[in-house]
Amino acid sequence: MPDAQVFDVVVVGSGGGAMTAAHLAQKRGLSTVVVEKTDKLGGTSAYSGGACWLPGSAVQQRAGIADSTDSARRYLAAILDNPDADRIAAFLDEAPRLVAALEEDPALEFEWLPFPEYFEAPGRVSWGRSIQPVKVRRDDLPDGVGDLVRPPVERDRAGEGGRATLSGGQALIARLLWAFLRDGGAVLTGHCVDTLLQEGDRVAGVRATTTAGAVEVRARRGVVVAAGGFERNPQWRQEYAVPGDAAWTMAPRGTNTGEPIGAAVALGAATDLLDQGWFCPGLEQPDGGGSFTLGFRGGVIVDQHGRRYANECLPYDRFGRAMAEAADRIPSWFVFDAREGGRLPAIAMPEGDPDAHLAAGTWVRADSLEELAAALDLPALLETLQRFNGFAAAGVDEDFGRGTDEYDTFFATGEGPNKALVPVDQPPYVAARFVLSDLGTKGGLVTDARGRVLRADGTAISGLYATGNSSASVVGAVYPGPGAPLGTAMTFASLAVQDLAGQDLAAQDTDRSGGQQRE
Ligand SMILES: Cc1cc2nc3c(=O)[nH]c(=O)nc-3n(C[C@H](O)[C@H](O)[C@H](O)COP(=O)(O)OP(=O)(O)OC[C@H]3O[C@@H](n4cnc5c(N)ncnc54)[C@H](O)[C@@H]3O)c2cc1C
Repeated sequence: MPDAQVFDVVVVGSGGGAMTAAHLAQKRGLSTVVVEKTDKLGGTSAYSGGACWLPGSAVQQRAGIADSTDSARRYLAAILDNPDADRIAAFLDEAPRLVAALEEDPALEFEWLPFPEYFEAPGRVSWGRSIQPVKVRRDDLPDGVGDLVRPPVERDRAGEGGRATLSGGQALIARLLWAFLRDGGAVLTGHCVDTLLQEGDRVAGVRATTTAGAVEVRARRGVVVAAGGFERNPQWRQEYAVPGDAAWTMAPRGTNTGEPIGAAVALGAATDLLDQGWFCPGLEQPDGGGSFTLGFRGGVIVDQHGRRYANECLPYDRFGRAMAEAADRIPSWFVFDAREGGRLPAIAMPEGDPDAHLAAGTWVRADSLEELAAALDLPALLETLQRFNGFAAAGVDEDFGRGTDEYDTFFATGEGPNKALVPVDQPPYVAARFVLSDLGTKGGLVTDARGRVLRADGTAISGLYATGNSSASVVGAVYPGPGAPLGTAMTFASLAVQDLAGQDLAAQDTDRSGGQQRE
């Protein structure tokens, strides 16, 4: 094995939490390396909209949104089950400080993102508390930065490169990477971390598999595991009973299979919430994949008998959880009419080509609802649609209250008495097959308010930190609002870096021979 490279901090993974940790550590003068399994940086974070749920930030105040950390505390208290009070307090206190620290850097610009929160509960802020990175042109980034960032999902899945302008999650990763490299940070791609190295009882580096064999990367201060969940690992999903399927997840192919979580468990780390994910309805693709779908503007979703079972306009995680409640809801069928010219009246990432769907049978089209019901063997479909069209005419969904919440109407375009209720009455009709997808699992390593990984007895494993979907989520089984995965991942990354930076290194080997290297 070649000589180990040595840094102060080793960050495993390159999503929003990882890159925040890397940028903040390097900025503090700690030599830092990002160790990434694939040849692109950003993981699922790069596919994301880049919304960051960071309550009480200056960005939000600048946009004139009346909010305080206290109202976010009330909101979380109302919606979370058994929250860890210390971690919630740490998240809420740190979130505005993190945004201020990020905005000190000229590479990092944020703006408010209007998007409703996911629960009607005390403390909810209308139009939300999320912020997003300002988009950035590839040409305005330093050479090579844009090319290292994973392209948007529709292009990545098709094997295409990124766009001329990077927005959402790509802008977030690109901007953090820009600052990190400018400050002398190092990146190792094509390194799959599968082992954590120890010196005494301190985690002191990682071992990674590369095409050239095993490589060791040493960490003088510690390792931050921010390598996503295990959504792409079918065995673990089955073992821990995560609803859905590895084939239907939104994580990029070849990414999150959980090796770093397993490596931490091998050192005695505790885990929690292993059956949990950030769920969503997924449009099934002809190749068996799933596409995150939200913003339903028309149509109804029915089970295998042709019955509705939830408000289709629910925030996606809540709809996904409704899908998971009964076996006859996976797959479901999304039945819509010709109002949008045969395209899906919803936002699917990606939607795919309607003709390819029809050829593959993931979409079925018929000239009448009778024919559609017969083709799919959905005996209750006609009655369901008759009832739904009555609700649309009256403006009231008596069964599931669609159109009563601000989230329901955010995407709605209907012209009737309730704009979220649009009749399904214009042939031809299409039924699109829907599966239970996810934006990642969110069970993993148990961490404390400083991002330190804990053993089952509550003691911290020295030198080991975790954030993002590698850790058991601070919000448990709940998805509070847009940007919660990234916002919480970035905040605990910041707290972990503060802990790492504050360590007393007097007793440790302070050999500074490791340099800033790039592969
Ligand atoms: C279309 C879409 C839109 C979304 N929009 C939002 C949004 O606006 N806001 C929001 O908060 N969330 C959003 N999400 C969800 C969010 O993107 C993810 O849940 C979150 O970004 C996961 O972050 P992560 O850092 O834990 O994992 P990831 O971003 O997936 O990063 C993990 C990285 O670690 C690498 N890795 C894995 N294993 C190893 C290993 N063994 N060694 C080295 N590297 C490894 C992976 O290759 C990957 O690059 C969205 C998701 C999708 C799909």
